[in-house]
Amino acid sequence: MPSVYIHIPFCQSRCIYCDFYSTTHIARQQQYIDCLLREMEQRANEWELLEDGERSADDKTLLRARTLSIYIGGGTPSTLPPALLVRLLNETVRLFPPIEGAEITVEANPDDVTDEWIEALKQTPANRISMGVQTFDDTLLHTLRRRHSSQQAIQAVDRLQKAGYHNISIDLIYGLPGQDIEGWAKDVDKALSLHVPHLSAYSLMYEEGTPIMRMLERGEVQEMADEESWKCYELLCDRLAEAGYRHYEISNFALPGHHSRHNSGYWDGTPYLGFGAGAHSYDGKHLRRSNVASLSEYIEAFEQKEGKGYYDTERLTDTDLYNEFVMTRMRTSKGVSADEICSRFGAATLRHFSKMIEPHLQKGNLLQMGPQVSLSRKGIFVSNDVISDLFL
Ligand code: SF4
Repeated sequence: MPSVYIHIPFCQSRCIYCDFYSTTHIARQQQYIDCLLREMEQRANEWELLEDGERSADDKTLLRARTLSIYIGGGTPSTLPPALLVRLLNETVRLFPPIEGAEITVEANPDDVTDEWIEALKQTPANRISMGVQTFDDTLLHTLRRRHSSQQAIQAVDRLQKAGYHNISIDLIYGLPGQDIEGWAKDVDKALSLHVPHLSAYSLMYEEGTPIMRMLERGEVQEMADEESWKCYELLCDRLAEAGYRHYEISNFALPGHHSRHNSGYWDGTPYLGFGAGAHSYDGKHLRRSNVASLSEYIEAFEQKEGKGYYDTERLTDTDLYNEFVMTRMRTSKGVSADEICSRFGAATLRHFSKMIEPHLQKGNLLQMGPQVSLSRKGIFVSNDVISDLFL
């Protein structure tokens, strides 16, 4: 069953560590949403083709496909004027009707979560909010050029919960410049005190072309040492486990029943349609499509070229598919099933996999339980190396 992703590439300002595609040209939001809805209308038929299972009794007519999950991400979707957000979400469920109880997530920045915004949200089917908090340390928030304060993040969660939105995920980052293990422990404890059922936590990455990378090169900030970073990760895993969270993916933790259905779909190879500038789609088989990561080119394609020429498609080889399968599945707690490798990619690929896991099993980086192979906690720290060793 397929999923829908919608990219809203607008941010009020840019955070210094971010390398996602987004722009501060907020004035073009209305124009962008008009184009986005045209793309969705244009591709509604494509959607039906993704759904293999639902056919009428005579097997000739495809029945209306149902959506497993919808995710409005960015950028910062909460920068949209409330009326535009309402229009976007309601049109999305009209064009791509969700299954009953489908997860419908909207990403938000804490300072956008006002009473007015929540009132608008109530006019939509959204039932999950994912919020970029990153840290509760105001000095670090300022260094990162985040727009909100720690108090605003706490208030945003409180407002949402009082309005009946309990399915909330917050993002945190560790390894921030000047942060130490004590500071990180305070962030984790503060996050736990908010009683949100889902947490994502990432190690700060110094990506090429970002302001923080230039600061690092000029010696204005220092990377956290690997050992300290590992201690932060261990503290995170331990405290969240004590609090009852399941560690279901390297960077994701959830109370029982609250894992992200949408992200789990990506890890399971579920087909998805991505709409908007910079969004990707995958047919669940061999085709990946990438929309142009440029606001002006995307808008131009719909306003001047009848919705043509704004995307590329790529046919994935069996090697690509295997490598992606291993890369995404190995990040999850359940890991990779040798049986599934054999059924999806054949006996020769399974032989390769079995040979390559052997040294990592011996080093304790991987664990094996029957056909399931997963990363050990030790292996998570060197996961990039372990996983790339398994590639074809
Ligand atoms: S708000 Fe999010 S998407 Fe926008 S610049 Fe900051 S981290 Fe990147």
